[in-house]
Amino acid sequence: ASCKREGFTAAPKVKWGDIGALKGVRDQLQMSVIAPIKHPEVYESVGVRSPSGILLWGPPGCGKTLLAKAVACESSASFISVKGPEFLNKFLGESERSLRQVFQRARASAPCVIFFDEIDAVVPRRDTAANENSSRVVNTFLSELDGIDSRGGVFLIAASNRPDVIDPALLRPGRIDKLLLVDVPTSAERPEILRALSKSMPLEESVDLNQVALDPRLEGFTGADIAALVKDAATLCLKRTVFNTSFEEFSLTRTDQTRVKINADDFEM
Ligand code: ATP
Repeated sequence: ASCKREGFTAAPKVKWGDIGALKGVRDQLQMSVIAPIKHPEVYESVGVRSPSGILLWGPPGCGKTLLAKAVACESSASFISVKGPEFLNKFLGESERSLRQVFQRARASAPCVIFFDEIDAVVPRRDTAANENSSRVVNTFLSELDGIDSRGGVFLIAASNRPDVIDPALLRPGRIDKLLLVDVPTSAERPEILRALSKSMPLEESVDLNQVALDPRLEGFTGADIAALVKDAATLCLKRTVFNTSFEEFSLTRTDQTRVKINADDFEM
């Protein structure tokens, strides 16, 4: 029951192998979060402080949440996941209190990765927000962020689709000083995502994921769109080969022989 409390999720089981493409972003996260969590003494010895905060930004469905989960899982850190809008519309003073609680829980369970989705909702530009209440929340957030430190084993990974509306004070050195773009995959990256998403599926021999990735209908597909395509293909395959038979005939041999055909033709676009 304790992991059901606000802001807590079960330890994520996302490994690097579950993520396709995004090589540059993964390398950066490896060096600035995973390695410092696993080998703090190495960073200590050369006097390098890794950033305490990182911003993943870009359009929805391209893997920001997935990356944050993989960082926590690969470094065996605990993981606290919250969404910006959860802290809005609370009674006076309550938003600040819940924010402080998140950081306090993180320090208590260090090493810990805090994933803060839709950060722009909590830290909007103070010049435009012009609202006393929201600027108090921004100040609380900044002071909590200043209080964490990679040496204390607490890392913040924030995510936003709208980095332009974030208060610039948040992006100053020593706070969130690494901004990583998580963008829609290119056609050259799509095969890697298809492979990652179908790696535990028995694929039909004729399926050529490189070919599927080049289908013009997949142009502009996000990782989430590709995940939907793969899932639809698997469901359709079950429908055709397994559930099509009468219930008495339904047998394990049958599912053993099931092969998934991933094909853009079968996807409702
Ligand atoms: P949002 O801004 O809506 O929160 P997001 O960028 O956090 O989006 P995710 O939730 O990480 O996106 O991705 C949604 C789903 O899309 C994932 O659960 C996964 O199935 C799939 N996906 C996205 N990108 C990738 C990728 N690079 N490799 C494998 N799967 C991916």
